[in-house]
Amino acid sequence: MPGRPEQSPTSAVWETSPAAALRVRPGFDLAGLDRRSTPGWTAGKSAGKALLSAHGDRLSELQERLFADGRTGGDRSVLLVLQGMDTAGKGGIVRHVVGLVDPQGVQHHAFGAPTEEERSQHYLWRVRRALPEPGYLGVFDRSHYEDVLIVRVKELVPESEWSQRYDEINAFEEEVAASGTRIVKAALFVSLDEQRERLAKRLERPDKHWKYDPSDIDARLEWPRYQEAYQAVLDRTSTDVAPWHVVPADRKWYARLAISQLLLDTFEDLDLGWPRAEFDVEHEKARLAAS
Ligand code: AMP
Ligand code: MG
Repeated sequence: MPGRPEQSPTSAVWETSPAAALRVRPGFDLAGLDRRSTPGWTAGKSAGKALLSAHGDRLSELQERLFADGRTGGDRSVLLVLQGMDTAGKGGIVRHVVGLVDPQGVQHHAFGAPTEEERSQHYLWRVRRALPEPGYLGVFDRSHYEDVLIVRVKELVPESEWSQRYDEINAFEEEVAASGTRIVKAALFVSLDEQRERLAKRLERPDKHWKYDPSDIDARLEWPRYQEAYQAVLDRTSTDVAPWHVVPADRKWYARLAISQLLLDTFEDLDLGWPRAEFDVEHEKARLAAS
């Protein structure tokens, strides 16, 4: 039947890119964040999911170009830094966004409480060791920011010490960026209510028990102090080379879509071609034919 051509479900577009809509600006107030909101996106959930899966092919190709670049002497890499309270969806980002690309090109690192060996070193020691090599997409599930989050809230080191760390982290990230790494920082924020539901699910379902940690409740009890610690992170460590993006995370599909777009934009911006062959292609074809 003639009529309007069917609209592709992936034709929906951002009204404002997440790079702009989610970027922390001076004066940003975390307390005012609506954690169910979908900044920059008005096309709804199914269009959002469709765009996320449509990102797969392009992201995958660009990641392969980055990998090829690393194999041929390039010094570039991308580092995705994920922060968020428990149940914020960091693992879902790894599975559903990072999972769109070839795992061979990913260097994933989850940061838990430091081991004894790590504790005997400077807090950035273990972070430096986990930085992506040239050609890789590095992913930090938690990061050096724990050293000004849980460490601050639980007073694991004196204030005189943690208060120095913001400047130190900025200097560290500047150095990392100068070495060829694009840093994409995303902080996922769930509401206290949504977190209760997600934790309840973990308790109800035997297949989710392994994800539950009794200390998650302790963190809930300290919620205001964590929010304050996050506010300080956003105030003090959102820099030009490594700006923070605040991602409302009560809607998982939105958080995944937004972070996939941030990553895609970063990869596009690298403007990577394919490395030129360092051999004579025609000559090799002739050799192959004769073999
Ligand atoms: P999960 O991400 O659920 O596996 O939990 C990891 C735990 O390790 C969280 O409670 C973090 O706060 C904690 N953690 C990560 N980094 C540090 C750190 N530098 N110092 C103390 N605890 C940390
Ligand atoms: Mg946990």
